[in-house]
Amino acid sequence: MPSSQHNAEVPISAFNAEQIDLMYGLEPVYEPGSEHRECPISVWLEVCCPHCWRSYGSEFELGHSTQQRIEDCPNCCGAIELTFEPEDEDGHYRLGVERAY
Ligand SMILES: [Zn+2]
Repeated sequence: MPSSQHNAEVPISAFNAEQIDLMYGLEPVYEPGSEHRECPISVWLEVCCPHCWRSYGSEFELGHSTQQRIEDCPNCCGAIELTFEPEDEDGHYRLGVERAY
């Protein structure tokens, strides 16, 4: 949306980083993103139990590989096999839920 109004404050971008460093005596500006860090991201998904058809929450880590695990339903204690397939490019993922006896 176009606006003819101008902010009275001088935007910080009017100064370059060197000038700011000189003015404040700071260390060179740390650039976030210049250092790649792996931070585990997990999602909390609702799992529908194939035994009692009640749902409960379960946590999955968004990694680069398929995760498979068996856990017990907190409602009926039935064993459930969970297959979590992350698809990182689009941020989509797939969760397979099967009975595990
Ligand atoms: Zn259940």
